[in-house]
Amino acid sequence: MATPMTADQRLAAYKAEGLAIHEYSGWRTHNRDSATGKTFGPVHGVLIHHTAGHNDKDICYKGRSDLPGPLCHNWLGKTAGMWMIGQGRANHAGLVDGDVINALIAEKPLPKDNEADTDGNDVLYGLEIENLGDGKDPYPADQYHQAVLWAAAHCRFHKWTAKSIAGHKEVQPGKIDPSFDMDVFRADVDNQLATKPGKPVSPKPTPSLPRVDLSRLIQAAKADPPAKQGHVTYMAGVNLVEAALVKLGYLAKTYAGDGSFGTTTIAAYRKLQLHLYPGASTKPGGAADGIPGKDSLTQLGKKTGLFSVIA
Ligand SMILES: [Zn+2]
Repeated sequence: MATPMTADQRLAAYKAEGLAIHEYSGWRTHNRDSATGKTFGPVHGVLIHHTAGHNDKDICYKGRSDLPGPLCHNWLGKTAGMWMIGQGRANHAGLVDGDVINALIAEKPLPKDNEADTDGNDVLYGLEIENLGDGKDPYPADQYHQAVLWAAAHCRFHKWTAKSIAGHKEVQPGKIDPSFDMDVFRADVDNQLATKPGKPVSPKPTPSLPRVDLSRLIQAAKADPPAKQGHVTYMAGVNLVEAALVKLGYLAKTYAGDGSFGTTTIAAYRKLQLHLYPGASTKPGGAADGIPGKDSLTQLGKKTGLFSVIA
């Protein structure tokens, strides 16, 4: 729990950490506090997003027809640098899982985000990183490095570790952003925190693809279908695999994002296997039984660029 940084404190902390800062006109008083009657803070952590678009700095400031801006505290361009967008409450997190917020407060490993029961806009700083988030759009090393410095600046100011950092995909069911691995990102921030501010670590950190653990995914594909509708065994991995199946057209978007490897996901995965292994058996134990294998999962991750596989 902490009192939010003032506008001047934020600027000073970012600059001390080594960031060059651009200021969107009006950012110092741009927030959702008075419109919602809810004051920003106390703050419990920082949240990382990708924008799922390009050239969206203005959208992040102004908002969309269904969601007024600011949509973040900072916007980080692919090559346009770090921009101040808002100061105070911002519409970036939405409703999030209160258990995950409690873990951020306690700096404990994050539990599964299986509920959206808590106002995240009240308690989290938000960074939107300009990236399509399709797994193919690269994060330039300099952009990723600036994201690490931004998160480190907040942690250093509040005397938090990187355990106070989460990705949107880790706090709200169905979200897949950011499209890089958050464990690697947190390790990169901890490395930065171990140095003096303004002394960037070398070599520069680089983003990693999220990883899907094959054995945990197989557990989910076996445990979820016979269980109650929506049963969740391995949310993070299943969400990535479902997003990949949607991308290749094997699964309808409406079925993705609940983190459950249910019968619809089994059927979609079987379609992928039949495409990879024409004529394969769909019987239990067959190469097209809908249970992921190392080869099919690796190919799915590569084709979509959404994840790599730990086997
Ligand atoms: Zn997001």
